[in-house]
Amino acid sequence: MEPFLPQLVYYEPRALEYELGRTLVEKFKHMDVELRETTSHNQVRNIPGKNELQQYRNAKSTLVIGVRKTLTFDTSKPSAEYAIPLATGCMGHCHYCYLQTTLGSKPYIRTYVNLEEIFAAADQYIHEREPEITRFEAACTSDIVGIDHLTHSLKKTIEHIGQTEYGRLRFVTKYHHVNHLLDANHNGKTRFRFSVNADYVVRHFEPGTSSLSERLEAAKKVAEAGYPLGFIVAPIILHDGWQRGYQELFERLEATLPRSCRNDLTFELIQHRFTKPAKRVIMKRYPKTKLQMEEEERKYKWGRYGIGKYVYKDEEAEALKEAIEGYIHQMFPQATIEYFT
Ligand code: SF4
Repeated sequence: MEPFLPQLVYYEPRALEYELGRTLVEKFKHMDVELRETTSHNQVRNIPGKNELQQYRNAKSTLVIGVRKTLTFDTSKPSAEYAIPLATGCMGHCHYCYLQTTLGSKPYIRTYVNLEEIFAAADQYIHEREPEITRFEAACTSDIVGIDHLTHSLKKTIEHIGQTEYGRLRFVTKYHHVNHLLDANHNGKTRFRFSVNADYVVRHFEPGTSSLSERLEAAKKVAEAGYPLGFIVAPIILHDGWQRGYQELFERLEATLPRSCRNDLTFELIQHRFTKPAKRVIMKRYPKTKLQMEEEERKYKWGRYGIGKYVYKDEEAEALKEAIEGYIHQMFPQATIEYFT
């Protein structure tokens, strides 16, 4: 998988007031990329494409360089207290991705250049909770690692949080372009997580992301660089031969990861879920998907704003939980399973 390179770049004139904005615009001027101005990163118009689907695909290779105005961070459960806003959007094409519904008609990738202001807001959040630890999630609305080779804003965030006493950072990725992050001064305060899955799920539902082997090799490098490491297994999907598929995943992890990281390893387990609106969008954008989304085969869980989600029925969810937790206990007895949801 080649590192992401946008086909089209927009920038807000205000972004040029910030060092990162100027650096990025300069960088793209020297590359074979079309550069356009936009008044606001929230209203990018004229993304090329004859129909909605083409525009969607083109938007996913469009980068917008903007200034983050809202410096109130969303709360982020269950893995952190707050979402730190470094970027929005992702170039991946995972069929099940929830950004398809949460970003609506704005699937282009936005990177925010006012890092000092974002860090000042983070420091304030940390300060309010002292001496409690405050965890920030950097991958709530994007796959931040996948674009960081261009911006290095994640690297700066890792180093900023590394200097705080009570701050912690975490993020998750499906990309393996981690080399520039290996020498970041993280001080052990960043948990670097990879999203992994059974081979069947990676092959059928995660186009446009790094292969599982690439992710595992990257995880090894990250562990060797002394980062606390974690894995999110999501979405856990029932498929023919799922037991073998997930067992193999953990066998591959076990064969790859250095001993040194195993005492402080976390796993987060998330079963596949969908909402009715998400299903509609997915069927439009990835009409040939093999993703199973039959409401009658699922259990309905009431959700916020009246939009409930469909999860696996209790006995199926239980079977998934038991099998996967079993592989983890067997192969990584010292690891922590943070949750199964
Ligand atoms: S890599 Fe993550 S954020 Fe990007 S499309 Fe896939 S699930 Fe969505």
